Amino acid sequence: MLFIDTPIEFLKGVGPTRAQLLQSELDIYTYGDLLEYFPYRYVDRSQISSISNINIDDAYVVLRGTIHDLHTVGTGKSTRMSAQLQDATGQIELVWFQGLKWIRESLKPDTEYIVMGKPTVFNDHINIAHPDLERANQESASNIKYIPIYSSTEKLKSKGLHTKGIAKLTEQLLRMANGRIPETLPHSVIEKYKLPSRANAIEVIHFPVKPHDISLSIQRMKFEELFFLQLDYQYAKHERQIRNNGYFFPVVGEHFNRFYNEKLTFELTGAQKRVVKEIRADMKSGHQMNRLLQGDVGSGKTLVALLTMLIAIDNGCQTCLMAPTEILANQHFANISKMLDGLGINVELLTGALKPSVKRKIKQRLQEGEIDILIGTHAVIEKDVQFKNLGFVVIDEQHRFGVEQRSKLWTKSAQPPHVLVMTATPIPRTLAMTLYGDLDCSIIDELPPGRKAVKTIHCTDHQRLKVFGFIRDQIARGRQIYIVYPLIEESETMDLKDLMDGYESIAREFPLPQYQISIVHGRMDSEAKDYEMGRFKRGETHIMVSTTVIEVGVDVPNASVMISENADRFGLSQLHQLRGRVGRGAEQSYCILMTGNKLSNTARERIKIMVDSTDGFRIAEADLRLRGPGDLQGLQQSGILQLKLADIINDESIVRAARETVQEILDKDPHLESIDNACLKLYLQKNKRALAWGKIS
Ligand code: ADP
Ligand code: MG
Repeated sequence: MLFIDTPIEFLKGVGPTRAQLLQSELDIYTYGDLLEYFPYRYVDRSQISSISNINIDDAYVVLRGTIHDLHTVGTGKSTRMSAQLQDATGQIELVWFQGLKWIRESLKPDTEYIVMGKPTVFNDHINIAHPDLERANQESASNIKYIPIYSSTEKLKSKGLHTKGIAKLTEQLLRMANGRIPETLPHSVIEKYKLPSRANAIEVIHFPVKPHDISLSIQRMKFEELFFLQLDYQYAKHERQIRNNGYFFPVVGEHFNRFYNEKLTFELTGAQKRVVKEIRADMKSGHQMNRLLQGDVGSGKTLVALLTMLIAIDNGCQTCLMAPTEILANQHFANISKMLDGLGINVELLTGALKPSVKRKIKQRLQEGEIDILIGTHAVIEKDVQFKNLGFVVIDEQHRFGVEQRSKLWTKSAQPPHVLVMTATPIPRTLAMTLYGDLDCSIIDELPPGRKAVKTIHCTDHQRLKVFGFIRDQIARGRQIYIVYPLIEESETMDLKDLMDGYESIAREFPLPQYQISIVHGRMDSEAKDYEMGRFKRGETHIMVSTTVIEVGVDVPNASVMISENADRFGLSQLHQLRGRVGRGAEQSYCILMTGNKLSNTARERIKIMVDSTDGFRIAEADLRLRGPGDLQGLQQSGILQLKLADIINDESIVRAARETVQEILDKDPHLESIDNACLKLYLQKNKRALAWGKIS
């Protein structure tokens, strides 16, 4: 067994109980894991504070003073030791609850000490519990200037593993390691970027001597982290390309041409043409396509999907379009059927809502190859749905589908179909590179001509009457209105109450019979939702009050006003999506962001971005910066959040370097057979993550 793979409980001072806790609390199973458990900050030991300046908010202080008045307090289990530390400016209490005997015997009164710890409040005064102590005149014995601070947990602390305890274990482990921390990056990469060795970087991060060395070492470990993430993706991609011959679609045939020449009443935008070309090149490459198509709502993604589906059909294959909700599937079905009318293409809809007998019929025709385009919800990935020759799959609004659901589509065909994943939630570049490292990426960054930009306005509760007046005016002009409430899972009941209260006040303000109002929320069954949506779509209701269920893709061109209540509680990307619901017709459209009168600075900044910008990518980047990646949809399962050091927002240049480096290596040595790349091969064999990721598309 490699030194770094040794189970952590074999480390002196750990044992079964602490090992158990290190595993459950910090995911530390082996020596290697402990070595990679890095401090989150450092305390400069030479920065000594005055006792009178101690603030309860200080995370950690370094003091220098003499110890007085060491005595025992209480009896039995609650016994503790207390002492006073005094410097020229004042004094502070030090307390110990454990190891009392040792403290009693070793602490020397009236002697100068360096004392370090976190100030806490106890019985209305500030003290430091279990401080780290060192005789001041022996200071030189330990030349550690920067003290690493590790995060710990209550449970670990109760077993003596507070930051100092962890530092001690790590220090001991590093001393033992002695040349047994292997290098993981190829020599060529170390050379190219002049990186410190892995062993050296790890040692420096735990026990640095100079700040400059810390940052160099952290860079190296971040690079390594991102490098291996990229290697996972890109190796999987290479393997897949070798393994899978893609369907070969050489011709652009009659269906495509007739649709293009006879049905399309407008010119494609430059961006649409470019993307169609990119997809077409993939379809002729002999490799299986796995492509992500990003573009704002209404930028014409669905049309691109349809055009490329026609190419697949012209080459004798079936196609499938999967949408995340029934409303969307229905909408796609209606639109696409209409657009293809008269071309002799068989389009069918498959959703959970269909009668079993109808479903059975569709499945049978599908298997016999009588259906050219199957549109549906996740019903299309059920086991008993089998195609005759599925050659191309389009997945709409991909973040709604789990990784596993997507990978099921692979089994629908003897040969894996080409896959196009569409999303209207733009993903910042760095993130796309990391998250979709094994997908190729196309972007539609241009809206069809003649669209009026949606006017975005921020209103506070004070202006509500004015907003009502505006709604009345728009309805009088024949327009329709969305009013949307946030829905955040933890407080679903609360949100529903907000929605119902809002609905009631809207209903009072806009009474029957003059005004008709629809309401849609997550607690309704899908039949009721579809009914209400249908009424709104057909123009039978004036106002749609809803939670974010309408967020994705619903198309009602006559709706011209989007009002989002408690706009400060929505994510920016979500607001951007909502705003995309309007501005689809020829009329000037509006997005009104309602908030309370008081707003935090961040909330104010976010609202301002929405008011100032309609660029989905800019908004996504701001969202990531302001909220952090944890809140972005789809990221939870991605592994990015488990990065130990690298930060997907601020380390863009490292992401880039790591990606390029991996690309270069795989181009030169696709099977990683050179001696220099042996460490990479080893890593991939050890790490099965690569395999799991290979299925994603
Ligand atoms: P997305 O899927 O990106 O939201 P769609 O493909 O649904 O966008 O297109 C939105 C609307 O714009 C549709 O009504 C579509 O017919 C229309 N459209 C698409 N491309 C163009 C274009 N190049 N010129 C004019 N209208 C277009
Ligand atoms: Mg769409």
